[in-house]
Amino acid sequence: MRQTPQREAILKVLNESDRPLSAEEVWRRMGGQNSGLPTVYRNLERFAQEGWAEGILGKDQVLRFVRCLSSDHHHHLQCEGCGRMVEVDACGLDSTLLAMERLSGFRITRHQLELFGECPQCAEKGR
Ligand SMILES: [Zn+2]
Ligand SMILES: [Zn+2]
Ligand SMILES: [Zn+2]
Repeated sequence: MRQTPQREAILKVLNESDRPLSAEEVWRRMGGQNSGLPTVYRNLERFAQEGWAEGILGKDQVLRFVRCLSSDHHHHLQCEGCGRMVEVDACGLDSTLLAMERLSGFRITRHQLELFGECPQCAEKGR
């Protein structure tokens, strides 16, 4: 899909970061030129709707965005030590979701799951 220069600049910032960024952080890294913060925020929300990025609500209740590399269903893991985030093309929740559907009577159409832990580098440091 073709992107406008501004959307490209936002995606580039997200691509270059190994951790989620708030709209303000993206805007700062873009040099703050060309576009206002509200525009950056709107674009980030659109990216989230279109599957280019995902919004992650931090412990501090700040919404940050992370670039999605895969267009297939995937999950993001965040290291609680250093804040780095990685994407994994795995889910494995199918049977759990079926059980939840049985218990709730809902038909589950999508889910989001945020996983936290310790990355290999931080585990190494802690040893
Ligand atoms: Zn994602
Ligand atoms: Zn780490
Ligand atoms: Zn999943």
